[in-house]
Amino acid sequence: MTVRKTYEYENGPHSVYGFRTGRFDFGINTTFIIYRIGETLIDAGPTNQWSTIKRVLKPLTINTLLITHHHEDHSGNANRISKLKKLTPYAPKLGQEKLAKGYPTPLIQKIIWGSPLKVQTQTLPTELVVNENSPSAAKVVAIPTPGHAKDLTCLFLPEQKYLFSGDMYISKSLKYLRADENLTQLIESLRVLIALDFEILFCPHRGIVKEGKQALEEKLENLLNLCRQSQQLMATGLDESQIVNELLGPEDGLAKLSKFNISKGNLIRQAMTFNQY
Ligand SMILES: [Zn+2]
Repeated sequence: MTVRKTYEYENGPHSVYGFRTGRFDFGINTTFIIYRIGETLIDAGPTNQWSTIKRVLKPLTINTLLITHHHEDHSGNANRISKLKKLTPYAPKLGQEKLAKGYPTPLIQKIIWGSPLKVQTQTLPTELVVNENSPSAAKVVAIPTPGHAKDLTCLFLPEQKYLFSGDMYISKSLKYLRADENLTQLIESLRVLIALDFEILFCPHRGIVKEGKQALEEKLENLLNLCRQSQQLMATGLDESQIVNELLGPEDGLAKLSKFNISKGNLIRQAMTFNQY
């Protein structure tokens, strides 16, 4: 397997580089971009792409690995990177136990990403300076953004106006929700991010989004609209599956393959009762 695409955001010593890997290319949700600023990596990529990731990382000096949340596409290779580069990854406190003890993943996710490896981490502090004593030194602020996952934490670089967004963006229009996602928290977390002074968003699935703030604002607006429309249709007497059909089209292969862990119904069900406008 090879690198599918490389990325660069040019900004002198604070340039950001990325590379996309993935076993399948069925859209952005089956591939993953690992980003690097100086000697710091953001997220570790899926385990079934290790041979490619190792090849890219081997010649690089890396002394810091920041993990945004425990999901296996983000954390899968943290153990291997920690050994390869002799470092202890940082992870959000709420994800550290899962990362240390391991956790089960559904078969479809095992096929797409491989199984995550257990890894010992250190707690990601609220603020830290990465690439210390180098021209690419940068302050990183950890912003807790629960909703997609309890431990999801975005990484904000105020001086560069960068936001490493974990899985907070991915797309302007959500069509699916995982069974364990919380839409009310997700919307609240979007509001927290929009209040930050950032410009460039680095999404490990979508890529580099230069008008990142606007993209998150559009995502929030689209989600609120979906909630409003769901509730209007509910008021006319439609039930959940009728509203799914009306607003998002019928459930597709993803719902069946994931045994409805990832489905349109999960999204509409929470949209029907959302009340934090
Ligand atoms: Zn995730």
